[in-house]
Amino acid sequence: MNFLSNRVESLAVSQTLAMSQKSNELKAAGIDVINLSVGEPDFHTPDHIKAAAVKAVEDNFTYYSPVPGFLSLRKAVAEKLSRENGLDFAPEQIVVGNGAKQALCNVILATVNRGDEVIIPTPAWVSYVEMVKLAEGKSVLVPAGIDTDFKITPDQLEAAITPATRMVLICSPSNPTGSVYSRDELQALVDVLARHPQVLVLADEIYEHINYTGSFTSLGSFEAIKDRTVLINGVSKAYAMTGWRIGYCAAPLAIAKAVSKLQGQYTSGASSIAQKAAEAAYTGPQECVAEMCAAFRRRRDLVVSLASEIPGFRVNCPQGAFYLFPEVSAVLGKRFGDRVIATSGDLAMYLLEEAHVATVDGAAFCAPGYIRFSYATSDENLREAMARIRMAVEKLN
Ligand code: PMP
Ligand code: GLU
Repeated sequence: MNFLSNRVESLAVSQTLAMSQKSNELKAAGIDVINLSVGEPDFHTPDHIKAAAVKAVEDNFTYYSPVPGFLSLRKAVAEKLSRENGLDFAPEQIVVGNGAKQALCNVILATVNRGDEVIIPTPAWVSYVEMVKLAEGKSVLVPAGIDTDFKITPDQLEAAITPATRMVLICSPSNPTGSVYSRDELQALVDVLARHPQVLVLADEIYEHINYTGSFTSLGSFEAIKDRTVLINGVSKAYAMTGWRIGYCAAPLAIAKAVSKLQGQYTSGASSIAQKAAEAAYTGPQECVAEMCAAFRRRRDLVVSLASEIPGFRVNCPQGAFYLFPEVSAVLGKRFGDRVIATSGDLAMYLLEEAHVATVDGAAFCAPGYIRFSYATSDENLREAMARIRMAVEKLN
């Protein structure tokens, strides 16, 4: 008997997590693998945030929390949105969940009906299409390659919108490309969206603070779409808190209430202790954020210069997040002995097995012909990984 639902059977495995697991298994077997697959800051969570969690335990923040999160945390988030983004959100419009991942999935499940179209510019983070699938929606992919710095144009957006469009999902700074839309570029997309009032805008701003352009524009700051924009953010990336699992959506009240209803039936409020830690992240000193961003920028420079020397790799200069997304089609079709590297997936597997460097196939991000590496690791690891990749690629003929 097969007891699995069609829903789960049609779902793809998260390739970022799968590659990381594979790399951990090889490491456990004694192989010296450098893991550039999963994207997470390699820094420890700052001490004042950890201290707040210890205090939360001592103060008995060990009971169920309100479904949308502690009011004190939602106030801290509202305060952050005001201070950093100039946005006016009431705490009632904010729902805290288990990471930005649950926040995103909550919003998609709460707003997308069967057959609704969701526009997703690609390359796109692995989970978007799968979340839309869970909601029985239909993803409409709008591709942008390295030649346009992985950004879609207003014309492409306009062409993708139909009467069935329910949502457009925009991620800037982007995972997996590191591209950042400027205010003007966002304005041009907003001008299109202003003509289509049935389209909800879901803005994944989780990499807001890992941004080397010197300025960040939230999609929440455009008057024309303000009442139908939902922001996603959280503490995972900015404060090196991936394991704490705290993210949020900031949404029009009706959507926030719907998300809260949904979350109340399947996970309840997020961890009370992690919420108190997240509150300390938002209300405490912010220097740690800039320091980590500066470190990522330095590594970006290093990895861009080393990766550009790998024959057949085309790279851009990402302006945010901590990923490089080289175009590798010039390498495809080559061989290593009997082994043919026909696809970017074959290349990722070859690099794992021959160079012992874990990357992720671009196909997982709806962009075959590319691979992704995370540069959120030490300079030493980056130098060694790029040298190994280069050697492995040079062996192909
Ligand atoms: N959105 C993007 C673009 C991401 O890269 C991630 C991290 N995997 C998330 C959302 C989810 O973040 P969190 O760890 O807070 O669930
Ligand atoms: N942001 C990370 C990545 O893309 C985390 C893994 C995941 O949740 O997909 O690698």
